[in-house]
Amino acid sequence: MFNQLGVIGCGLMGGSFALALKRAGLVRQVVGYSKSPSTTEKAKRLGVIDIAAESALLAVSGSDLVLIAVPVAAIDATLKAIRHLVESGVLIMDVGSTKRDVVDTARRVLKDRVDCFVPAHPIAGKEVSGIDHADGQLYGGRQVILTPIAQTRPELVQKATDLWSAIGSQVLKMSPENHDAAFAAVSHLPHLLAFAYFSSVAKQPAGREFLSLAGPGFRDFTRIAASDPEMWRDVLMANREEILKQSLRFRHTLDALEHVIKQGNGDALEDLIRSASEMRLGWQMSTPKR
Ligand code: NAP
Repeated sequence: MFNQLGVIGCGLMGGSFALALKRAGLVRQVVGYSKSPSTTEKAKRLGVIDIAAESALLAVSGSDLVLIAVPVAAIDATLKAIRHLVESGVLIMDVGSTKRDVVDTARRVLKDRVDCFVPAHPIAGKEVSGIDHADGQLYGGRQVILTPIAQTRPELVQKATDLWSAIGSQVLKMSPENHDAAFAAVSHLPHLLAFAYFSSVAKQPAGREFLSLAGPGFRDFTRIAASDPEMWRDVLMANREEILKQSLRFRHTLDALEHVIKQGNGDALEDLIRSASEMRLGWQMSTPKR
């Protein structure tokens, strides 16, 4: 049981975490801070937080657990704002979608107090953002990746593991580098492609008419193109090296498909499609639905 959770960034992820901890009876009170006072006030009105703080530092004051749930580009400024109150034993986590940049920032800003920081990335979310969409069940049945570094205190990693497990998440640990390489492939590139693909259809002269004919496959395929622009700008910029590597790989695969189409080689095209289809089916059978 934590005495006080300080949430910095009372949006979808921060608000959902506060609600989940409250539901599970894991925290006595929640203090929240967001950039706009109106967001913080709304979080209080909705019962997501109990006390609205006027600064990030005030949200950390007296908290034995701190969650930083701001866009990844705002983590540097947030850590700078709170570093004077980061005390030994306080568990500080983020929920940023990239980890190498966050860990580098934490090392640089927190210095020896980086031992309190347990970087986290819940594989949960929605296309919508903001406190209105906070949901106490968001993390249930979802994976949470922790990317501790050599300095991270093992007992705080254990505390973080127990906490996420208590709200129904499955906890995995990996290095920040492996995290960013993997999520470039399975999350960041698909978002980049969804933005590009939807734009290319919608912006062509007959785009509106074509879209009016689109079926469920198109809807499934483009769902994530409606994601939050600010959040995805930050993620794509922060993990650009890995994303560009994945994008190049994708380009080669697309080139191979286009090549056999141009050649009119139906057999080769079918082989490429069969290989993708079988791999997708195999993956589906071996992976629990999340
Ligand atoms: P969100 O709903 O837009 O919430 C972000 C909150 O951070 C807003 O309340 C915003 O305040 C606040 N904020 C922005 N800059 C700030 C600053 N400098 N100081 C204090 N508060 C600040 O976004 P979200 O979806 O919860 O995303 C938060 C983090 O979770 C991001 O790092 C993202 O990468 C990560 N994440 C998101 C998802 C997802 O699917 N959404 C999944 C996994 C991880 P205002 O309302 O005042 O602007």
